Amino acid sequence: MSRKPVMAGNWKMYKTAAETTSFFEKFRPLVERSEHCEIVICPPFPNLPAAAAAAKDTRVAVGAQNMFWAKEGAFTGEVSASMLKSIGCSHVIIGHSERRQYFGETNETVLKKTLAALDAGLTPIVCVGETLEDREAGQTESVLIDHCQGGTSGLSAEQFSKILIAYEPVWAIGTGKTATPEIAADAHRVIRGAFSQPAANSLRILYGGSVKPDNIKGLMAQPEIDGALVGGASLDPISFASIVNF
Ligand code: PEP
Repeated sequence: MSRKPVMAGNWKMYKTAAETTSFFEKFRPLVERSEHCEIVICPPFPNLPAAAAAAKDTRVAVGAQNMFWAKEGAFTGEVSASMLKSIGCSHVIIGHSERRQYFGETNETVLKKTLAALDAGLTPIVCVGETLEDREAGQTESVLIDHCQGGTSGLSAEQFSKILIAYEPVWAIGTGKTATPEIAADAHRVIRGAFSQPAANSLRILYGGSVKPDNIKGLMAQPEIDGALVGGASLDPISFASIVNF
């Protein structure tokens, strides 16, 4: 089963609009021939128009880092999937561990957002992953199954075929501690096995957690790993391009 890799950058709360434009100026030529994978960059909300303008007519797609599930309404501070779509987004990260940790995101909100994103024609990148505490308590497998099934339950076969999953062990995010390729591949096997849908074999599962130019090759050598969700190392055009071109 060949699954086209996806390399996605999560910029978190970094960069201004001007810095976004200057990133793309340097990044574009470095990836213009990178046809082996799909590339997505997810800047903060205010920089999405600058990113969409800079990514126009290139192979780079633009995504948001969050959204709300309602179509519109009195929800101060929130943005809808169709608003994101209308400014050129094609992807949206949902249920990142920082949102679960600091903003009360749960499997239920993840599912509502996933459904609303699909409804608006966005590709959800649904994040799952265990904490260090979960891993040390031997709960990794049950947490992954719970995140996967809880965050996507009831999706039709067609909806399921459009999602991406990012496996991000919380203990590896921003810590410099990457999961070894073997640990990541084991988790990816658990994740794929958590889905009963016939299309589970085509589901693309990205690894995220301290991915860098010097560890991407080992991770991508695992057939179970279909790409990466990259935080810190996606902020620098040369470093993210060398991850893309692993
Ligand atoms: C992330 O934010 O999704 C992430 C994986 O961060 P980092 O690569 O910096 O660990």
